[in-house]
Amino acid sequence: MSYLYDLWDDFISLLFPRLCYACGNHLGRNENLICTECYILIPRTGYHLQSDNPVEKLFWGRCRIEKAAAFSFYNRGSRIRNLIHNLKYKGIRDIGYELGRIYGLTLKDSGFINDLDAIIPVPLHPSKERVRGFNQSDIISQGISDATGLPVNSSALSRITVSATQTKKSRYDRWTNVEGIFSVTDPGYLKGKHVLLVDDVITTGSTIESCTNELVKTEGVRVSVAALAVAPL
Ligand SMILES: [Zn+2]
Repeated sequence: MSYLYDLWDDFISLLFPRLCYACGNHLGRNENLICTECYILIPRTGYHLQSDNPVEKLFWGRCRIEKAAAFSFYNRGSRIRNLIHNLKYKGIRDIGYELGRIYGLTLKDSGFINDLDAIIPVPLHPSKERVRGFNQSDIISQGISDATGLPVNSSALSRITVSATQTKKSRYDRWTNVEGIFSVTDPGYLKGKHVLLVDDVITTGSTIESCTNELVKTEGVRVSVAALAVAPL
């Protein structure tokens, strides 16, 4: 019976090949979304184990962050870049959830999340979220939450003005166009909490900086940061 099932399975995968979203190779029967090779070969930064790591240093003198880490490196043609592209522009939400879950387990095992109270996804502008249908940081946060048990609060912080598509702008413009675009909408919830701010990719850090400067206006709020990837710094 299982032979017939395997045969049927092979037949279906001929018609509808299941491909790895990181490298494009065929997935094996027991693989889902990401092939085993990619899962192993995605380079980990290890920054969650390293204080004063490059992501933390990026924010020195800009905003008050307790600790910061990123799962992998956002290099051209890298597996993580392909995965995040498939998440954001092809709408494969499961990728965000799965990467969040994988990173969440790492953060939990290392004790990185021990003194944290909640996860705050970096908000997308509502109009952008309507077009995309979801906020990728939200999905990643759900994965981290499932692995760590930390609650996600997607409504305590919101985005208030449109910023032009950041990827099309120069590095200098990206530095300057995110001031004052976030607003705390639930200070009662945030008060006294240590939150994990979650984003997909950290490039200049200006988005995180802007969110953090808004969050710490609420009494007793401390901010740490986790992202799926960090661009070469
Ligand atoms: Zn692969």
